[in-house]
Amino acid sequence: MVKKVGTYELESKIGEGNYGIVYLGKNSITKEVIAGKAIPMKNPNPKLLKQMETEIKVLKASECPYIIKLHDVLKTQNNIYLIMEYCGGGDLENYVKSHGKVQEFLAQRWLSQLVESFISLQEKGIMHRDIKLANILLTSKDDNKCDIRVADFGFARFLNENSFAATQLGTPLFMAPEIFNNEHYSFKADVWSLGVLAYEILTGGPVFVCRTLAQLKKLQQEEIQFPDYLSRDARSLIRDMMMYDHERRPSFQQLRGHMFFKPIYNITEITSKSIAASPEVHMDDLEDSDYELIGQESPEEIKEEDKFEDFDEPIVKIEPQYGVLASKTMDLDYKVEHICEIIIQFKNQTNQIISNAVCKYTNEKVQGLFREAEKIADDYSLTRSKDIMFWELYEKIQRMVIESAGAYEKIVSQLDYERFFLEVKEDVPRSNKNMDGVKRALNLLEVAIERHDCPEVLKQQQHDMLVLYKDLLRRGYY
Ligand code: ATP
Repeated sequence: MVKKVGTYELESKIGEGNYGIVYLGKNSITKEVIAGKAIPMKNPNPKLLKQMETEIKVLKASECPYIIKLHDVLKTQNNIYLIMEYCGGGDLENYVKSHGKVQEFLAQRWLSQLVESFISLQEKGIMHRDIKLANILLTSKDDNKCDIRVADFGFARFLNENSFAATQLGTPLFMAPEIFNNEHYSFKADVWSLGVLAYEILTGGPVFVCRTLAQLKKLQQEEIQFPDYLSRDARSLIRDMMMYDHERRPSFQQLRGHMFFKPIYNITEITSKSIAASPEVHMDDLEDSDYELIGQESPEEIKEEDKFEDFDEPIVKIEPQYGVLASKTMDLDYKVEHICEIIIQFKNQTNQIISNAVCKYTNEKVQGLFREAEKIADDYSLTRSKDIMFWELYEKIQRMVIESAGAYEKIVSQLDYERFFLEVKEDVPRSNKNMDGVKRALNLLEVAIERHDCPEVLKQQQHDMLVLYKDLLRRGYY
């Protein structure tokens, strides 16, 4: 059914995000194709309202051709509609999934457009803070005509020239080391994230393969491994963008001059001068904008106290089962709830096994871990409305979950040593071209390798399996 909103007709659903549904539609007068995001305003979540407010502010302030255009903001009794330019090519994440990777000549164009977008944002004092493949849209399915559009500004932040941000927020695999190191950070953190994105589009796989925050922090300090086919200029660009020391990391402006972009900047001369300054836009401006109503409904006011509650929370997701760092941003409450569920699951499973087991030491150790995990969860629920030190809590719970998982696996393997090794032996050869099999084999091997009596051959198999895993990722398997 076609939905009419002002002069726009919203026809079919394209997708759904955290705070709204996106429809494909058109302007019924000009026939221009548009995308309309409907954001429900019944019982609005203040955190999501703040994200929407930021998104509107940024999009209205932006004049860069590579940033998604906001044509209109319409308000009805139940919804706010963001009418945006339509991007028919989907997002970069799906492009890489279906094409395996982005060819270098195309990446030169898209990455240079991204650099231009972030230069223009920086000129207006805006940090994106959630640069990742899913947030970059493509204008067309035809590679020859396709340009990028930066989208999703819910986490963006306006910074003055000499100010910094401190909130730990984003998508872990893309977040710069200075954010994890509790340092103040600035636009160079976006440069790092763009480096992570550049690696992934040029190789088809993630730059870091890891399961915990501690592993990620370690990998960020190590030398980046590149596949053989990647050109010298592409490697150098990624190395520069992902320079650990943010003082030495080049700015977006400096990246313009990088050899990787030489073919592009010789052809298209885009200078920062062409992007004029525009005033900051506030949510209040919406009240005066050209909104139209559907039917007889009257516009509903967004309560002031709901709008500006300062919820600048860090957002991280822990994947089921044992804490894999994911590529999707996620709400804190949901995440902690999820960890608690995993802890309860472990507890139930382990209790059953322990009741049949004789290993007193392990029993006590596991029970101790569970007690601590429960206390952390309790503390969290007591302080959730206050300003808690989230990161400390996150790391502690994550450690608990991983240790509990390890302890649990140890009990299982002690009880059934023979079956466990048999499983590893069977799973490894079976998993050759099968991503699920590879993941399972890697899990089994990881536990096996922790054992003091682990045979050398399993260590070699883990190494081979990781190579296979990266190779499958590069070829588009997930
Ligand atoms: P989040 O809520 O975290 O921002 P999201 O990016 O998935 O998550 P939306 O921005 O609401 O959520 O987008 C939902 C879907 O609609 C995504 O698949 C996105 O690629 C698509 N989409 C969003 N804007 C457009 C657009 N202007 N043109 C075409 N598709 C779009």
